[in-house]
Amino acid sequence: MSITEQSPVAPVRFADHTTSRVGGPAAQWLRAETEARAVEAIRAADEAGTALFVLGGGSNTLMADDGFDGLVVQMAFTGIEQLPEAEAEGLADDRVRVRVAAGHPWDDAVAWTVERSLAGVEALSGIPGSAGATPVQNVGAYGADVSQVLHAVRALDRRTGQIVELEAERLRFGYRDSIIKRSMLEHGAASPQWIVLSIDLDLHRPAADGDASAPVRYAQLARALDVAEGTRASLQTVREEVLALRAAKGMVSDPQDPDTWSTGSYFTNPIVPASVRARLPEGAPAFAAGHDDDGVELVKLSAAWLIDHAGFGKGFGLPEVEPREGGPDGRGRDGQGLVGGRASLSTKHTLAVTNRGQASTEDILVIARTVRDGVAERFGVQLHPEPMIVGTAL
Ligand SMILES: Cc1cc2nc3c(=O)[nH]c(=O)nc-3n(C[C@H](O)[C@H](O)[C@H](O)COP(=O)(O)OP(=O)(O)OC[C@H]3O[C@@H](n4cnc5c(N)ncnc54)[C@H](O)[C@@H]3O)c2cc1C
Repeated sequence: MSITEQSPVAPVRFADHTTSRVGGPAAQWLRAETEARAVEAIRAADEAGTALFVLGGGSNTLMADDGFDGLVVQMAFTGIEQLPEAEAEGLADDRVRVRVAAGHPWDDAVAWTVERSLAGVEALSGIPGSAGATPVQNVGAYGADVSQVLHAVRALDRRTGQIVELEAERLRFGYRDSIIKRSMLEHGAASPQWIVLSIDLDLHRPAADGDASAPVRYAQLARALDVAEGTRASLQTVREEVLALRAAKGMVSDPQDPDTWSTGSYFTNPIVPASVRARLPEGAPAFAAGHDDDGVELVKLSAAWLIDHAGFGKGFGLPEVEPREGGPDGRGRDGQGLVGGRASLSTKHTLAVTNRGQASTEDILVIARTVRDGVAERFGVQLHPEPMIVGTAL
């Protein structure tokens, strides 16, 4: 296999392939238009001991400004189909199984299901990136996550070089977490042990009474739809409302809007012992999150609330945004913005760290560090990054 035949003369930069528009060049870059090409390239890289980075849509990746000294395989193969029942083992009567290729844009897959009145992923409308990356961090939004409908993934196991099928329970999904993601974080690896080639989703067939969505499990969405939480609405309406809610927060990719030049939420919602919640001011949102292995009660806090109440308002880091009472002055010493105004919190949502046009990865990290440290100082709560940070650190 020749990689160089595919590589353009000028090095390919991550900045041109990530939604944050940052990140340096890669030594080698392969855009894999077929699954076979991706598998062949990954196996060859692993056999040769070449560093590997697998890229989907680049919407959850922050690559170092120095770039990546290895091979990038961009998963660019697409395809979506309803599997014949004979091939869909263990499928419940009221479901259909849909297989989506790893490189298929996730939101195109959601639109495809809604057009066919198949319920289950409509609340995940508007999440950028590829279908193959959705199990990596168990993408979720508006009370839904992909683990609720994911039956299995087909994946290349890099330890054996074999293609395997992993059913959902083997992926050990958690909040923005899976065994795939942990295989990177726990070994400091740039890419996971399992490279997802396709995902199988078990979706509800159209209900007899029309195109009903899955039950709406998020108060803000239920209000927007004017339905009670836990009840259903029309699939198309749910999709439209989710897209509208997301757009208002800068959470739908828009090439014209720097508020969306980000990795979405930069921080996950911290899960902490309930005793930590008791120390926070009244009004700090907290949701039951089960118990840890020692039986300690856990709660999930709102990262956005913590950031906001630590004094980091929307647009923090921009020269024209006034400091918040009790918060740091994001305009910087010379009034030019914290990092020259090149990066800031989104002006629509405090959870997104955005590139205002000329940012480097380091600029993004300076904003994120300032926010993380400010929240720790104010509330004693540690925020953790959601995107995969490669070649550098927060
Ligand atoms: C505006 C905006 C809004 C967002 N909103 C949400 C949201 O509501 N909910 C949410 O959960 N996320 C959200 N995100 C984050 C992001 O869109 C998701 O995590 C998405 O699934 C990432 O897909 P990707 O293909 O772009 O991943 P990439 O950035 O290309 O890759 C992310 C990680 O997954 C690995 N990876 C990619 N493809 C594969 C594969 N096929 N097999 C194995 N590993 C792979 C990469 O190596 C990397 O470590 C948002 C991002 C943006 C920019």
